[in-house]
Amino acid sequence: MKKFSAKKVLLAAALLSLTANAQAAEFIYKPASMTEIAVNLQKVEGGHLERFKKPYEIQRLSDNIYWVSAANYNVTVLVGKEGVLLIDAPMHTGKQILKAIKAITDKPLRGIVYSHAHADHVGDSSLILKELGDENIDIYATEEVSDALLSHGVTLPAPVTKIIGEQLVFEGHTFEVYKDLDGHTPDNTGFLIEDGGRKVLHAIDLVHPDQLEFRSFSNVENAIAYKNDIDKLLKMDWDVMVTGHSNLGYKEDVEFVQQYIRDIQNYIHQGHANADFSAHLKSDTPFAWYAGYSDEVIDFATDLLAKKYREGREEEFDIVARSHVKVMFWAMLARAL
Ligand SMILES: [Zn+2]
Repeated sequence: MKKFSAKKVLLAAALLSLTANAQAAEFIYKPASMTEIAVNLQKVEGGHLERFKKPYEIQRLSDNIYWVSAANYNVTVLVGKEGVLLIDAPMHTGKQILKAIKAITDKPLRGIVYSHAHADHVGDSSLILKELGDENIDIYATEEVSDALLSHGVTLPAPVTKIIGEQLVFEGHTFEVYKDLDGHTPDNTGFLIEDGGRKVLHAIDLVHPDQLEFRSFSNVENAIAYKNDIDKLLKMDWDVMVTGHSNLGYKEDVEFVQQYIRDIQNYIHQGHANADFSAHLKSDTPFAWYAGYSDEVIDFATDLLAKKYREGREEEFDIVARSHVKVMFWAMLARAL
């Protein structure tokens, strides 16, 4: 009997390792600390609602770098020798972020960097400048981000004053600039810095640790390029990632998204192979045949996805999963993938 139950436990463990929630077990959850550097795989404890209700949270990532979270938007703060550099300034978080920076250091804010031209991530830069009444704050972005802000007519963020090239140097600290993480938006930019032996990556709207991705993979502009971004993130050399939302990110979080996308693509291929295109050619309405066919494949793939990923996160899955399959289906169909 004893032997049997041990076997059962082993079997349960093996099955669990196949489920989508197995990743959670690897991480260490602790309250946010602005003094103690998070160790590898350490995350900030607390649920989604809790994170929303706190004015801000600060987690130290290295000697000089901090993760700051406000209203479930995350930014990177670098404390230099004389001043502070902030990467991103999400809308409706500016005042909390300034309070968080004040809690970390007395040094003045000297620069704000934009990761991409989405106003929700950079829109409070103008409010921050106004609050500080300080003209000595540089606004950094790549040419691509600056151009996107202008061409899209995004006027809420403060205008860019310094264009970034392949590196961003701030008070002796050097960030490597990655312009090829361009699936979410063509201008999306990653920033990688090594500080005190820790490699911190700031890469926004690509991975949402501890949850499924936001709808349509965060309203992805190019789903295939986005899939490639996920593969690139795994090849890059970094230890911890500031992801823009939810929790701290690690390679294990990226692997989860990589597998999720691979499964979606695989299930779409299966649905495609099973679907009878001619069965949908029965209405004179333009596109009705396309709608019937695409719905059949998307529903088929979503049902298979549910078998692996829905358990334990039913509400979340039902809100976003079909949008993931849908956006990937159309991107694959257009490219005959
Ligand atoms: Zn975005």
